[in-house]
Amino acid sequence: MVQTAAPQTGAGVAFSMELTDEQRQMQTWVHDFAKNVVRPAAHEWDEREETPWPIIQEAAKIGLYSWEFIQNAFADPTGLLMPVCNEELFWGDAGIGLAILGSTLAVAGIVANGTPQQIMEWVPACFGTPEKIQMGAFGVSEPDAGSDVSSLKTRAVYDQAKDEWVLNGTKTWITNGGIADVHVIVAAVEPELKARGHAAFVIPPKTPGLSMGQKFKKHGIRASHTAEVVLDNCRVPGSCLLGGKEKLDDRIARAREGKSSRGQAAMATFEATRPAVGAQAVGIARAAYEFSLDYAKERRQFGRAIIENQAIAFKLADMKTKIDASRLLVWRAAWMGRTGKPFEAGEGSMSKLFAGETAVWVTEQAIQIMGGYGYVRENPVERWHRDAKIYTIFEGTSEVQRLVIARAISGIHIQ
Ligand SMILES: Cc1cc2nc3c(=O)[nH]c(=O)nc-3n(C[C@H](O)[C@H](O)[C@H](O)COP(=O)(O)OP(=O)(O)OC[C@H]3O[C@@H](n4cnc5c(N)ncnc54)[C@H](O)[C@@H]3O)c2cc1C
Repeated sequence: MVQTAAPQTGAGVAFSMELTDEQRQMQTWVHDFAKNVVRPAAHEWDEREETPWPIIQEAAKIGLYSWEFIQNAFADPTGLLMPVCNEELFWGDAGIGLAILGSTLAVAGIVANGTPQQIMEWVPACFGTPEKIQMGAFGVSEPDAGSDVSSLKTRAVYDQAKDEWVLNGTKTWITNGGIADVHVIVAAVEPELKARGHAAFVIPPKTPGLSMGQKFKKHGIRASHTAEVVLDNCRVPGSCLLGGKEKLDDRIARAREGKSSRGQAAMATFEATRPAVGAQAVGIARAAYEFSLDYAKERRQFGRAIIENQAIAFKLADMKTKIDASRLLVWRAAWMGRTGKPFEAGEGSMSKLFAGETAVWVTEQAIQIMGGYGYVRENPVERWHRDAKIYTIFEGTSEVQRLVIARAISGIHIQ
């Protein structure tokens, strides 16, 4: 009989699906906060449609709302810590989760485009302190430039005499827009160069010329503030151009000569944040799956628990399978991003696409499993369904994710 070696376990194996002790500790820490603080407050802040300042403050007190937390998560060599923590927080509630993590979009914008000095100056200002909470916002989208980020109308013009940039335009759908202390705004410096002529600017707190337009009333994630940001002759010092003037001039010159120019301001940010956004959708889907699984075991019709019907049990089997598949795509993309592997097949987009669509589907199945009890606001699944829908829209719609993947796998500029 042929003897086969026993499968190796533990440290000697290069590939492992197990989280490290540190990752598990952080996972438990965020989960406990989500369970004890976030979830109990979710219904109230959804109904109020207001920024949950007291909950953000609680998050700041334990260090979850802080630059240190984000730095720690970014530093994880496997890249998994950020999605793991995102999933747990959003399992608690997506609206409050976004109120807590919305600032990280501005942080990603600063880190992706800024100099080390700019990062040190502006990133901590996106959080403030537990006593004085501050926020960040990242503004790209405009009324006529959503998926088509290349056609921004917001202009940034350099005033050489004063070494200042003057910004004019309207941004829309901006998370924390107008209530943030630090706004990172992407504007066209050379509009004819489309996305290659864009640059990102920090607008410091209380800068004249930046104001909030309308605040939107939304279908879901209602504890997260979304509003227009109006820039009316908004002047910022030259030092607020992320990455600096020399780098921008060089990039624009290369673009004019038709040479490749890397580092388009908005795209750099979205690439880095997509797996984390996918993880948020996984958190919502998992919440709805767990809730409807418990319900299906308890609810009795025709003299038996409804889960004893294959129609219900198979739904739950499919829900769990798709959630786990989403998480695996998210973890792969996060690991690839952290370890510098090129996204040759649009793996970042795949993770966000699949997790977002799974969250919408799973939350709808959860309502179906609960029947009328799933449709009313006294149970959270209808809120989770409303919250899930944003994941096929923001940070690139599902169609845009498919475009990215289709172009990556075909090498053809699919329209
Ligand atoms: C709650 C919320 C928060 C947001 N937060 C931010 C933020 O903080 N910062 C920020 O900059 N933006 C933010 N956004 C904006 C978000 O990223 C945009 O809504 C999104 O990119 C889509 O743009 P649009 O809404 O203009 O839709 P459109 O681009 O007009 O798309 C409409 C439909 O057409 C489809 N479509 C468009 N082009 C194509 C194509 N080429 N092929 C196939 N289908 C296509 C789309 O997929 C979509 O189904 C937020 C949006 C919401 C709703």
